[in-house]
Amino acid sequence: MPITIIQRHYDKIASHCIESYPSEGGGFIGGRDNLILGIFPVPNFELWFHRDRTAFMWDDLSKNQAYGVFKGYNMGIIGLYHSHPNGIALPSQSDFTAHKEYGIRISLIAGVSDRKLTKIAAFSLPRKDDDPNENPPDRFIPEKLEIIEDIDLDAYIAEKELQAELQQSAARYLAQEQELEKRVAEILSKKHGGQRP
Ligand SMILES: [Zn+2]
Repeated sequence: MPITIIQRHYDKIASHCIESYPSEGGGFIGGRDNLILGIFPVPNFELWFHRDRTAFMWDDLSKNQAYGVFKGYNMGIIGLYHSHPNGIALPSQSDFTAHKEYGIRISLIAGVSDRKLTKIAAFSLPRKDDDPNENPPDRFIPEKLEIIEDIDLDAYIAEKELQAELQQSAARYLAQEQELEKRVAEILSKKHGGQRP
């Protein structure tokens, strides 16, 4: 399922990751389902506390702040973005472990090389309900990153909400229909039962 981001948020991730070069930089991603609606850059804990340029980690205070801001807009933390200053936009095994441990579903990796963005690639944690018979693989699933214009966002959300509404009403209709069918069957069986000699 593609991950959708507006151009403005995409550019914000790109500029933060370029500014952080040659260190890793990152932040939280807020939204609903696979739709990115907010970007919350945070200080790199690894850099400021351990002087490690080749890793990215947040602290609890930043995470709580991001959570609070997103919650105010009816969104949750759906993902994390961070940069790889070696230019390679692929998650490492420790990226996977961290996402799994903290239950952060989406990962955007920005490859930065020579203070230039090489690519922003999207990944998500495997979900059990994708195929209940299979064990989820022990690695990220690559996802398509769909960039839409800022102006399209309202239309995009409206369309998604409309689709959800239609699906819900279809489900309600089916349930009502089944209920009605059951009642008719009951009435018929009683009627036939009564007429039986
Ligand atoms: Zn990484």
